[in-house]
Amino acid sequence: MSYLRVSVTDRCDFRCTYCMAENMTFLPKKDVLSLEELEAITAAFIRKGVKKVRLTGGEPLVRKGIMELINSLGRYIDSGELQELTLTSNGSQLEKYAKDLYAAGMRRINVSMDTLDPHMFKLITRWGDLDKVMRGLDAAQEAGLKIKLNAVAVKGVNDHELDRMVEWAGAREMDLTFIETMPMGTIDELRSEKFLSLETIKQQLSENWTLESTDYKTGGPADYVTVKETGQKLGFITPLSHNFCESCNRVRLTCTGMLYMCLGQNDNADLKEVIRSEGGLEKLDAAIDEAIGRKPKGHDFVIDRKHDNKPAVARHMSVTGG
Ligand code: SAM
Ligand code: SF4
Repeated sequence: MSYLRVSVTDRCDFRCTYCMAENMTFLPKKDVLSLEELEAITAAFIRKGVKKVRLTGGEPLVRKGIMELINSLGRYIDSGELQELTLTSNGSQLEKYAKDLYAAGMRRINVSMDTLDPHMFKLITRWGDLDKVMRGLDAAQEAGLKIKLNAVAVKGVNDHELDRMVEWAGAREMDLTFIETMPMGTIDELRSEKFLSLETIKQQLSENWTLESTDYKTGGPADYVTVKETGQKLGFITPLSHNFCESCNRVRLTCTGMLYMCLGQNDNADLKEVIRSEGGLEKLDAAIDEAIGRKPKGHDFVIDRKHDNKPAVARHMSVTGG
């Protein structure tokens, strides 16, 4: 285990249709870890050898005081204990934070953007503004941050645009990863009607682009090729068509201190209870060891009609942050 994802909030300023219902009930504030608690738990993982930390959410940059946490974790980059501190964001606040993120030691970030069409962007995110995200991307690149775009492929929504996105990302020198929708949490539509297999997409893209295989591996679920014409990497995250678990090196901490050993399973360990108990800081290391020992070998995802109203994993993606 070398990679920790930390969801710093389950709240978000967007309501992407595949991720959230429009009316969401968020977690009570008292259950959400303070920035200090988040830092203490992350530090315990760094002591255990975690080398890469990714902050996510919900939208990590809407958490009040988030730069305090990022700056304090940045010190582990300075000391060499951490190799990478990074972030997955919807881009809405990047214009404001890009320079600070770079100054804190971030060098690469992931930004989720499913379409280049402002109207479609509004339909997908419900509350988002593509112009603002575009300004955020500009600011991030100006600040020196390397960007990887994430796009969830949704049938009838952005499937006609994927070629254009490969071209656009290539021209902007951004890597791009397509993601299959995963059955997490109840949303306002039927997932089986929107599911798009990336096997088919890859096939279609290869008619227009030379997709060269690469040995680039992140220890994560994405399969990467290089697009010869643009020189940028193109990734495919296919949890449904492939079980990517064998090489998985990551664990996930939610903003309420639950540690999930697998995105696709419900087994977890309650580190909030540990850290808020007497002498909690000293007990953290043992609690983490015990939890990691239970990391499973595979996920339980399935998308079909029978499961539309009962997703394999009841929590929304915004709880563990993907
Ligand atoms: N708000 C940030 C963002 O959108 O990048 C970070 C959190 S978001 C939950 C992380 C990633 O999960 C995003 O790329 C999003 O598109 C993806 N995602 C959300 N719900 C998903 C689902 N049900 N299936 C597949 N990907 C999903
Ligand atoms: Fe928010 Fe990210 Fe979920 Fe969209 S995918 S609703 S931006 S957490």
